[in-house]
Amino acid sequence: MFDCLVVGAGFAGAVFAREMAEIGKRVLLVEKRKHIGGNCYDQFDDHGVLIHTYGPHLFHTSNETVFHYLSRFTEWRDYQHRVLADVDGQKIPLPFNLNSLRMVFPEKMATSLEERLIQTFGYDVKVPILELKKTADKELQYLADFVYEKIFVNYTAKQWGCLPEEIGEEVMSRVPVFISRDDRYFQDRYQAVPKQGYTRLFDNLLDHPNIHLLLNTDYNNIFSLHSDSYEMELFEQVFTGDVIFTGMIDELFDFRFGELPYRSLQFQFDHLKQDFFQQASVENYPNNYDFTRITEFKRISGQQVKNTTILREYPHAYDRNDITRNVPCYPIFQDENVELFKKYESHASKIPRLTLAGRLAEYRYYDMDDIVEQALAVFKEKFNY
Ligand code: FAD
Ligand code: UDP
Repeated sequence: MFDCLVVGAGFAGAVFAREMAEIGKRVLLVEKRKHIGGNCYDQFDDHGVLIHTYGPHLFHTSNETVFHYLSRFTEWRDYQHRVLADVDGQKIPLPFNLNSLRMVFPEKMATSLEERLIQTFGYDVKVPILELKKTADKELQYLADFVYEKIFVNYTAKQWGCLPEEIGEEVMSRVPVFISRDDRYFQDRYQAVPKQGYTRLFDNLLDHPNIHLLLNTDYNNIFSLHSDSYEMELFEQVFTGDVIFTGMIDELFDFRFGELPYRSLQFQFDHLKQDFFQQASVENYPNNYDFTRITEFKRISGQQVKNTTILREYPHAYDRNDITRNVPCYPIFQDENVELFKKYESHASKIPRLTLAGRLAEYRYYDMDDIVEQALAVFKEKFNY
């Protein structure tokens, strides 16, 4: 009945399902959760506030193709994301920039640091904190230590359970020191949120007669991959179609080389009987509390609703056997995990009709636009040449 099985209805799976459907393939899309959208899922809470169930999702890209592709499925609300960090009781712009600098240091000192930063790195330049830490200049070294201590070290301990150096450049350079007065979190050409939410975008993406969606279904219950012969079965019949897999790669191979670790989050939503709770959509608390940040959703959706809903995120280790910790949010990008992932990847490459896509199957810290870009590129290369 089906030419193609897609596992997971997040961005990776949904884009693949749509593209396969459009070239005439009959697609079975299987999702273990009760909803589509993966971690981008959003919903209206009991008070009418549009909340992001798995944490704040802000769309940003400089890739025109990706933006125009998604624009087929949604209208957008222009939205420039701004984040504040609580440092010594003061809310300062994040990424740490020249405005933040002026807020935390006396004027003379700030002017001197600003001049040295610009002389050393240039203006409108992003410098990862681990690079700034390597500077030989004594004044800049002081600044680097200050930012490292006040912004990065404790937040990273909460988020990842380790030091910034141990989680590596790729993650740390997502939030650099920005030698600029631009207070926005991202500088991408396109920054917006879907006008009617991500879930509506996914509804439209999956609205195709060739896509059959099965929610509340773990693929393990309908599909099997024989570990030696690599033969596949779908609904207990031999399956010779294509499989696009966007779940956890270690699970696909029964954890045969060991479990890949992930970080998970506990999400605590609160509805408050007040107009607004905080100044910015997202405020980070690097040094206080057990949570990392607070999101206020009506600042993202722009809704004119009474009262407000906020979210606190508490990071912890992922545990597939514990229902309170079994949402894999982030791959942990450390050398030994990447090595382990490569074993799985190499094993997967022996299976001709299997394609891995997405954050979990590729074990990458992808943003939404990266996922869409990658899914479209792989689809074109493998299926639509
Ligand atoms: P997922 O969305 O995880 O989808 C995988 C799907 O596979 C899930 O629905 C899962 O239920 C399903 N699945 C897994 N196992 C099985 C199984 N056994 N059987 C059936 N189905 C299965 N990106 C941005 O661009 N901007 C942001 O602001 C942003 N904020 C984020 C905030 C947080 C807290 C997190 C965690 C991520 C954020 N991201 C953001 C990243 C974004 O969520 C990911 O890029 C995107 O969701 C990845 O899509 P995916 O399809 O690869 O994975
Ligand atoms: N980070 C930090 N302090 C902050 C914000 C970010 O130390 O106030 C570090 C932390 O290690 C985090 C990483 O930078 O995991 C990337 O931050 P980003 O905001 O991109 O995380 P995401 O939104 O993906 O959770």
